[in-house]
This record gives sequence, C-alpha cells and structure tokens, in this order.
Amino acid sequence: MVRSFTDLKLTPVMLEAIAAAGWATPTPIQAQAIGPILEGHDLIGCAQTGTGKTGAFAIPVIERLAGPGPQPAAAGPRQGGPRVLVLAPTRELALQIAETFDLLGRTRRISTAVLIGGEAMGPQLAALARRPDVIVATPGRLFDHLERGTASLRAIRTVVLDEADRMLDMGFAPQVERILRVVPVDRLTLCFSATMPPEVERLVRQHLIRPIRVEAGTFARPVAKVIQVLYRADARDKTPVLLRLLGEERGRTLVFTRTKHRADRVARAVQAAGHRVARLHADRSMAQRREALDGFRNGRYRVLIATDIAARGIDVPEITHVVNFDLPHTAEDYIHRIGRTARAEASGLASSIAAPEESDQLRAIERHLGHPVPRQGVAAATGR
Ligand code: AMP
Repeated sequence: MVRSFTDLKLTPVMLEAIAAAGWATPTPIQAQAIGPILEGHDLIGCAQTGTGKTGAFAIPVIERLAGPGPQPAAAGPRQGGPRVLVLAPTRELALQIAETFDLLGRTRRISTAVLIGGEAMGPQLAALARRPDVIVATPGRLFDHLERGTASLRAIRTVVLDEADRMLDMGFAPQVERILRVVPVDRLTLCFSATMPPEVERLVRQHLIRPIRVEAGTFARPVAKVIQVLYRADARDKTPVLLRLLGEERGRTLVFTRTKHRADRVARAVQAAGHRVARLHADRSMAQRREALDGFRNGRYRVLIATDIAARGIDVPEITHVVNFDLPHTAEDYIHRIGRTARAEASGLASSIAAPEESDQLRAIERHLGHPVPRQGVAAATGR
C-alpha cells in the first residue's frame, strides 16, 4: 500500500523535485501507476484531469529517462533524438504536460519540445534542433512534422497517450494510428483516458502489451449535483446579466465565451465593473496563459474568462460558479464546462445565458440532459 512518495522507489532528486512542487502525498492514480511504470509495464490509467494523472506518468517516465544521478543519463549533446513522446488532444493540455515535465525534470535538465497546431513552425523546428528528450504533441501537428521529415521518432522508448478518449473523439484516430506504427515496437506504452469506450479499448488491444489497469476515483461531482440555471436574454443584454450574477455570487467564477474576441470584450466589461479578471484563449502567449491560470488559482483573479479549447484540461480547485456567457456548441462541452464547478465542497452553480439564436444548442443540451434547465427571469438578473 503506497501512502507516501517515499514508499515508491524514487530517486532522492525526484523526491526533492516532488517536494519542491508542493506535492505532499501521492494522489490515488499516482500511488497505483508509478510503481508499475517504473518496472516497465505498459499501463492503462482510467483517470480524468484533476486526479494528478500527469504526475502519475511524468514522475516514472522522467526517472526512467534520467537515471539515478542529478544529470541526464547522457549529459552533453544528446545522441539519437527524443526518447519520450506524449500525445495529447489539445494545445492547452500539451502545454500543461510540458510544464509538469519541466517542473519535475528541470534539475536533471530534461528538455521538452511542444509541437502543437496553430503555431508557427519556426520555433518548433528550433526546439527540435536542440534535441529534446521529450516531445509533447497534438497528433495533427506531429503528423505534419513527420510528413515533412522534420521530426524523427526513431529513438522513442516511451509513448504516452493522454486523454485518449478525447483524442479519438476529436477525430485524431488516423494520426494516432500512423504515429504508433512509426515509433519503435520495443517501447513502453501508457494510455490515460477518462472513459473507456470501444474505440479506446481497440487502440489499447492493438498497441499495448499485457497492460496493467489502474483506476482513479473521479473527483468530479456528478453533474446531477450541479445547480443549473438558465437566463434567456437578447445578445445585447448578456453583459448586464453577467455583471449582475458576478455581483450576487462571491466565489471563484469561470466564464465561457464562444470566441476569443468575445472573451476579450467581456473581460473589458467585467474589469470596468471593478472585478479582478483574467483571460485564457488561444491568442494569448504561453506566459500570459500561465499568469492567468496561476492568478486564478491563487486568488489574484476572481474571474477567468475562457474559450472552450483553452479551458480544456485546466484544473482549478474551488470554482464555485461556471457561467456560460454563450452556450457551447455541443452537449458534451456543456457537461464538461459545468463539471468545472464540481471540485468545490459546496455544491456548484452553473448559469447559462442564452440568446434566442441559441435555441438549437439549448435544445440539444436539454435533450442530452434528459430534462430542461430551470429558467430564471432576466429581470431578476438585470434588475429591469
Ligand atoms: P492533473 O490531473 O495531472 O491535471 O493534475 C491536477 C492538479 O493536481 C495539477 O495542478 C497538479 O499540479 C496537482 N497535483 C498533481 N499531483 C499532486 C499531488 N500528489 N499532490 C498535490 N497536487 C498534485
């Protein structure tokens, strides 16, 4: 029974890095997954974001990569190319994974290249030229690099498929399959997924060898426990409704908008109303996103305004209120968004502000939920 990180066969440097990260005890998925990965078993981890799953693979993967000393096993110029490949569905998640590798591997000079879509090729080529130990990539962009011959996977010894269900949902199955055929067969393969639909099972059957299965209880509150409220408002009345809600609810609030542009606009209005607010979307630099997330986590900002993609995978405890300033495109995104309130002890609140032109989305969401979202009068929210 693993109760502390010292119960695991970790090196003193790794224990120091974990302590420096402020992680006192392993989460359930870490307690179960780290040992088998260190021993070289393929592994399936049933765990969603927020369970500590990134550490569950980053800790043993770095240990295997770096060897016992404070320096990487092969100090000086790296031979042979990257040895670890992590595939993730979204850029945000890829960036978070790379941050965790930096956090835990910095003292051993583990270097990471992030290959994600929507960014210029130049800096990614430069990162590859520096011969990173680890590649963290979204499947589409890595596939582009392989097609162009700008990335080589010949030396890969460990592959991690993170949020496998989501990657397949997003239509990345062909790229993932092609990538798995290019990496050497003599490797370790780890697959993390919040759910295990048949497509993930098939992927696992084909590409993992006698994997060990571990499961982490989810921390997310069942969606049924989130209090949901719907405000019908014309598009121009959405901002007053939001400001009213922010005035009534004091807790940490995550607001979703449909586009980056709208996120910026809403943030300006929220700031003008005197709230401490940060923004998270794809046009913001990595440093800006990190600052926004850190500030939201440590309370410097009470309100975070985000687009779906940018918010995917972020983990912030104690979000008490999620506001859908715009309804999401799919019912799954709605469930995913409102599940963000789920981590607080107090029951979460999810408010949606829907304009008449969003009726189709609303119908789809309510069909998926199996019941209507309770309506509140807009007058109650705007004071009109
Ligand atoms: P993840 O599920 O990997 O996205 O991690 C969720 C959050 O938990 C991240 O902010 C991690 O920094 C944090 N975390 C991971 N492992 C631990 C741990 N053992 N103790 C405390 N926090 C952790």
